[in-house]
This record gives sequence, C-alpha cells and structure tokens, in this order.
Amino acid sequence: MIITSYYVISAMSSLRIENLSKTFGQHNAILNASWEAEHGEIICLLGHSGCGKTTMLRLLAGLETPNHGCIRFENRILWSSQHNIATEARNIGLVFQDYALFPHLNVFDNVKFGLTHLNKSEQQHTTKTVLQHVALSQHAEKYPHTLSGGEQQRVALARALVTKPDILLMDEPFSNLDRQLRDRIRQDTVNILRKSGTTTIIVTHDPEEALQISDRIILMHEGKIIQIGTPKQLYDTPNCLFAAEYFSTINKIPCTLKNNTLHSTCGQFEFNHQNKLSLTEKAPQEEYRYCFRPYHVALSETPQHIQSIAATVISSHYLGHQQSVHLQINNSTHNIHAQGIFHCPTHEGQQLFIHIQPQQGFVFSEDSIH
Ligand code: ATP
Repeated sequence: MIITSYYVISAMSSLRIENLSKTFGQHNAILNASWEAEHGEIICLLGHSGCGKTTMLRLLAGLETPNHGCIRFENRILWSSQHNIATEARNIGLVFQDYALFPHLNVFDNVKFGLTHLNKSEQQHTTKTVLQHVALSQHAEKYPHTLSGGEQQRVALARALVTKPDILLMDEPFSNLDRQLRDRIRQDTVNILRKSGTTTIIVTHDPEEALQISDRIILMHEGKIIQIGTPKQLYDTPNCLFAAEYFSTINKIPCTLKNNTLHSTCGQFEFNHQNKLSLTEKAPQEEYRYCFRPYHVALSETPQHIQSIAATVISSHYLGHQQSVHLQINNSTHNIHAQGIFHCPTHEGQQLFIHIQPQQGFVFSEDSIH
C-alpha cells in the first residue's frame, strides 16, 4: 500500500469523557462512563452485543443526547448540561458497519462529497491525494457495487478521512469482511490511521480484533466500563473474571490462599503477584478460583517437576495449527482445558501430566466482575 505523508499534518486531538450516562426509558445504556483518548490513539470499545458500544459512539458524534456527564475535545466542551456543539460542528468522521456509500456516485465523487467548502481544484487535489493514501487511485471511476468488500471499506475510510476529522469513529468496520481479507484490511487500516495520526475509536465485539489493532481497549458490560488498558494489560492482568473470560476460555480451579501460598487441586504455589489477585474483600475463601488460560497449560507423558499433575485425556480436537485437549485431573472431578502445540499423544484415555506456570494465573472470586 502506498502511504503518503499528507495526513501527518492532521490536527492533534485529545478526547475526554466524564461521567457520561445515557438511558433509554428505564434502561441504562451507558452508566457513568469516564475515559480519555490521547492524540493519535486507536481505542477499541469492546463488549458483547447490547453493552452500549454504539450508544457511546453516537453520544460522541452528537447523534444521541446524554442524560448527564461531559464530552470534551482539547479545551472545547462538545457536550455538557450547559453546552452542545452540533454534530456537523464537532469535526468527527464516521465509518459505519455497512459503509453507507452513495450507490449513484463513483469512488471519486463518494470521497469528494464532504469537500464542498473547498474550491473545485482543491477538491480534486485533496480527493486524489486521499485516494492515493488508501491505495484506491486505480478504482476512482468505479461505482461501489463493482468493488470488493475491502475496497468499499477503504472508500468509506477515505471519505471519513478526507475532511481531516479530529476524531474518527468506526462502528464494527471489519465485520462484513471474510476472515482472510479482514486480517489484511485491518492491518492496512491501522497503517493508514497511524500515518494520519487520527484519534480513532473503533467499536468491536471481537477480542482478537481489539488485541490486534488497539493502543488501548475499553471493555464494557451492561453500559459500564469494566477495564481500560493496553491489549497486554487486559490479557495478562484482567481485573475480574469477566475481563479474563472475554479473551479466552478460562480454567477455574477452587483454591484457598494462606500466607501467600495458594492451595489447589493443581498444587501449591507461592502467590505474590498482587496485580493478578483480584478478590473482593467480602469473598469467602470457598469462592476463590485459581484461573489460567488454556494456552498456559503444558502437557507431557512424564512428570517434569514436583508440581506436575497427573490427568487423563477426555477429548482432543485437532485445530490445524493447534490442539485443543480436555483432561480430568486424576482422583478429582476437576477438568482442565489445554490448547497449544503438544508433542505427546493426546488421544482419549491417555495418561498425561499437566504443568501450569503459577505466574500466568489469576485468583478471582467466582463470577467476579468490576
Ligand atoms: P451491538 O454490538 O449489538 O451493536 P452495542 O454494544 O453497540 O450492541 P447499543 O446499540 O449501544 O449496544 O445498545 C445498548 C442498549 O441500549 C441495548 O440494550 C439497546 O437495545 C438499547 N438501545 C440502543 N439504542 C436505543 C434506542 N434508540 N431506543 C431504545 N433502546 C436503545
């Protein structure tokens, strides 16, 4: 993809959301949300269907009115109970899930559409530059229905970027693309956004997508923000079981904690990683769960160390690049899910040993959610 330096000059931005709430009737679509986006950051709003992601975008764009709170951009208030800057004056770009291209206009005219404030030659020049920026120059004369999904997505992106928005809002922009195309288009889009320096808020329910493209993730549930952090922070140090389980299945083994030693069916571990210990004060010990991801389980035919746990394979599935194996810990009712590349036989009934790295585990109370 050809990337020009055109957008490097785009305006710097800083977005600040304070105690934002939006109700529809009795329903809290957004409840006291506070977060910030730094200049040029790519932020993903991540969460299950109905958690309020699109409502958050619509509030930022001025397409919905908050009940209370404040939306600031740099030193301007876009919305508070005393201020309201109209949608068209917020300098926000929007890319919708269905791209919303004008079917009767060709690619060039679709992109040029928002440039009526410029004279004709400036419109031509700016549109050409942006099309080059998203590698669509050769498709300028084509109509949307003759383009692939990925090309349509880039037209939508170009149309949003051409006005040099301070903030770009994208609602599930990759969900209409097939898997292989999606990976490539996602990466191309991130490259374009990075070059443009545009502060971007992307809505997705796909954890892999959020991990791959964001600088920071805002994980939401039922209108509330559960955790904000870098992809690594959310994956490695989730603040509750809900956050941990959003990114993969989780093994949950009952455990107790005494003097920083964790006692469980999977053995005893020194446990001094406070950042991975998320227990509400009130949780009784019987609700403690030692949690770890299937990717952090190693398997072998012979015990590797004193904490190896004997287990029997219940089922095994070939996933191409990986193996998914369910085991039952011997003399226990607890099952363990392991996923990865294993160099031992994993057929049903096979006796194996499980190895867990304690530092990769978390302790949560059952059903914990922040
Ligand atoms: P999805 O991923 O399915 O698009 P979402 O996380 O974007 O979901 P929202 O569209 O923001 O969720 O909706 C949040 C909640 O607010 C949902 O329960 C939804 O039904 C409700 N809601 C959204 N818009 C309206 C509206 N205009 N009137 C009434 N309820 C609404």
